[in-house]
Amino acid sequence: MSSVLVIGECDANGVKAATMQACNLASDLGETTVLVIGDGSTGVDTIPASRVIVANASELKYYDPVKYCAIATSVAKETGAEIIIMGATAMGKDLAPRLTAELEWRYAADCIDAESGHLVRPAYAGKVLVKMKIETGTVASLRPNAFSAKEGEGGPVEQWTGEIPESEITTDGIEMSGGGTVELTEAKIVVSGGRGLESPENYDKIIRPLAEAMNAATGASRAIVDAGWVPHSYQVGQTGKTVAPELYMAVGISGAIQHLAGMSGSKCIVAINKDSEAPIFKVANYGIVSDLFEIAPILTEKMKNEIN
Ligand SMILES: Cc1cc2nc3c(=O)[nH]c(=O)nc-3n(C[C@H](O)[C@H](O)[C@H](O)COP(=O)(O)OP(=O)(O)OC[C@H]3O[C@@H](n4cnc5c(N)ncnc54)[C@H](O)[C@@H]3O)c2cc1C
Repeated sequence: MSSVLVIGECDANGVKAATMQACNLASDLGETTVLVIGDGSTGVDTIPASRVIVANASELKYYDPVKYCAIATSVAKETGAEIIIMGATAMGKDLAPRLTAELEWRYAADCIDAESGHLVRPAYAGKVLVKMKIETGTVASLRPNAFSAKEGEGGPVEQWTGEIPESEITTDGIEMSGGGTVELTEAKIVVSGGRGLESPENYDKIIRPLAEAMNAATGASRAIVDAGWVPHSYQVGQTGKTVAPELYMAVGISGAIQHLAGMSGSKCIVAINKDSEAPIFKVANYGIVSDLFEIAPILTEKMKNEIN
């Protein structure tokens, strides 16, 4: 049985969903230890693992690649980890390759599945799927929401007692931007708008109320980001964020290959487009061929009534 280390994340709201998803895969692979680095430990006692190690200090409040990588490396060595798994979150995308280099292991980035002893990850903007054998010396990051979350009893929690390394990086604060009130990559539902909306005012009038009614995060195509309607942090796609929510709603988006690269892993895709030939319909589970200005407000009202 392999020894698997999960690098977990938690904030004031508790343990991130991406951590519970990493725990699920880890438990299939072997004995799981979870390391959580930060200045708070809300909910760590709910993490289902054989062992939960918490490195808790005020100097660790914000992600610092030097400190976090050094602590993760030392815990990996102490626990005899053979495989390391974490979410491909903002932190995971930076930490995972650093840790791989530090340990001189191999890296499977942004995995979307695991089957028959292999990790599956998209490459070339999702045009091909690469299968990497899961073997000793692998660091893997998992696309948020691509795996289901582990459920079960929390494991025993212990404090990490090592020395925090020096770093020349000083972070005074982190400001959340874009994606509305729900973080785009972690959201269960994403409502995205494209050039079919015709103006930034219509994004506010159509997309935001629909997203709010569904408790969803808001996303966008690159066309409207480049036009300055919404910030880049909203962009979904090859040069934006990759999302895999339960439900992705594409409103007035054509479905260019670069957009699909960031959302085609969604569990259910709904597209509203007045052009029945739009490529988005090739990946959509449900398609509405209609004028978005007629359909979206009706949906918003229905959703408000359903949820309230
Ligand atoms: C290197 C590179 C990287 C890229 N990265 C990204 C990326 O990360 N993300 C991304 O999104 N794009 C990316 N792009 C751009 C991509 O190729 C497309 O240009 C872009 O996705 C198009 O955005 P859109 O679908 O909003 O606009 P359009 O392609 O103009 O589509 C608008 C759609 O709205 C529909 N529509 C119009 N009016 C209505 C109406 N009233 N009701 C219903 N439907 C309506 C139209 O039928 C059309 O299908 C990249 C391109 C390159 C070259």
